Amino acid sequence: MIKKSMTTTRRTALKTSAAFAASIMTSPRASAAEHSDVIVIGAGFAGLNAAIMLADEGLSVTVLEANNRVGGRAFTADHIYGSPELGASQIGPYYARVRDTAQRLGVELSPGSNINAPFTYALGDTLIRKEDWEGHNLNKTVGAERAVLPQAMQGYYMGKYNPLEGFDDWLEPEAARYDIPLAEWLIEKGISEEAMRLVNAGLVAPDAWNVSLLTLLQEATRGRLMSGAGDAKGKDQFEQYALASAHVVGGTSRLPEAMARYLGDSVLLNKIVSSIDMSDGGADVTCLDGTRYRSDFVISAIPFGPLRRVSITPTLEGEQGAAVRHMPYATNTQVHMRLKGEPYWEQDGMDASLWSDGALNIVRQPFGYDGSRDRLLAVGTGKKGERLDQLAPKDRGEFVVKEIERLRPSTKGKIEVTGVHSWPQYNFVYGCRHSYGPGQVTRFAHDMIKPHYRMHFAGEHTRRLEIGMESAMESGERAAFEILERTI
Ligand SMILES: Cc1cc2nc3c(=O)[nH]c(=O)nc-3n(C[C@H](O)[C@H](O)[C@H](O)COP(=O)(O)OP(=O)(O)OC[C@H]3O[C@@H](n4cnc5c(N)ncnc54)[C@H](O)[C@@H]3O)c2cc1C
Repeated sequence: MIKKSMTTTRRTALKTSAAFAASIMTSPRASAAEHSDVIVIGAGFAGLNAAIMLADEGLSVTVLEANNRVGGRAFTADHIYGSPELGASQIGPYYARVRDTAQRLGVELSPGSNINAPFTYALGDTLIRKEDWEGHNLNKTVGAERAVLPQAMQGYYMGKYNPLEGFDDWLEPEAARYDIPLAEWLIEKGISEEAMRLVNAGLVAPDAWNVSLLTLLQEATRGRLMSGAGDAKGKDQFEQYALASAHVVGGTSRLPEAMARYLGDSVLLNKIVSSIDMSDGGADVTCLDGTRYRSDFVISAIPFGPLRRVSITPTLEGEQGAAVRHMPYATNTQVHMRLKGEPYWEQDGMDASLWSDGALNIVRQPFGYDGSRDRLLAVGTGKKGERLDQLAPKDRGEFVVKEIERLRPSTKGKIEVTGVHSWPQYNFVYGCRHSYGPGQVTRFAHDMIKPHYRMHFAGEHTRRLEIGMESAMESGERAAFEILERTI
């Protein structure tokens, strides 16, 4: 267990600050609202990590979480057969903060994560084996592209031409020239029309014209480190990540739950923050249920989608305001299924997972950590995800089963839908991840994380060097340090 620091030096410094004390006393609403040094909004990895760091430094912290659970996009679906991860699962080999926190809180990690059966490729109605892809007559890619599997096409170009070396290169002024559409750069590098179609078929952004190359280059640079680790060399990117990663035993949610337990009763659930009012005297944070909380500082550790719905006084201005209003978020919609009867892959003799250029992106056949193979997960991202989300949840499941049965007749009568989940439709998150459009890294990345009066910003969308859960932890750490510096 982390040992909570007994020191109250900084807290004492804050409490005795004449300006703060006077202003709190003169505020007409102060008597009704509970006061903390810092209010953290959002109990995902970013908010929880910030709160732990501040509490360990002796500051009083209140965490307000809109949902009835902590973890945000770390969400082990214990209500769905097999307890699938709806969000984060893979803990990269160099996730120092995540791994350290798990160790200190006694949360067990185990090697390997999110390992799937290899893919069979569905182009139109035709199924193609991995080993037949390069020479298949439906593979219309050109030259060296022909040997690249469809899901690896973007990674192939990134790996070959990525000009970034360091993890923070993407934030340097000279990197602005790469803040262009992914499609423009791929065309410049000589991608064939068919390879571009395959890239588009698997993107989480709407298409290659609407995502900044620069943000993808940053991820590829960081991913290079992750995928180069351990025994993963020489495998495709998905396999590399899966093999080099670890997972939380019992589900990813167990880690944020342990973090919240450590913070004790300072984490409040079902608190939908609706407004933040800042004055010289402090910050008033009001929730939809009418409760009010007061603090010297606020950390917004919520995605920009829900932050758009919070009224902030004084208003966010300039590029910071524009970033909150306009940052695009990517789609990820999922249908979880249980398999019955004889394994369909033994019946048709093809690899069990499916990559498709049709209505779905991929259908994964995951290996359970106990070796079981009785589940399927269909994922729709980008425009495909948006189209699936137009269907009612029940119809979404039916549509997906029909589509899989059509592509893969050996699955007929063997699939039962166990759950659906859409990140764009999930309350208080509204999208699976931020996804800068072309030009937006240059416009937003620096300005959007600047402190605004008493308000600081955290969350994966404010990342600097890391990716995924580790980037959320990194951002919480940065916001906590910003506040600690102001309280010394
Ligand atoms: C499908 C999917 C797969 C992923 N896979 C991986 C992976 O394998 N490895 C990896 O490292 N990362 C992965 N990620 C990314 C990872 O989950 C995120 O980067 C990380 O969890 C984000 O944490 P966060 O704290 O920034 O935001 P969140 O987890 O979104 O937390 C924000 C919190 O704020 C709360 N909130 C929102 N609005 C309000 C409000 N008004 N008032 C109060 N609270 C509010 C929300 O309820 C939520 O709990 C995946 C994500 C998805 C969606």
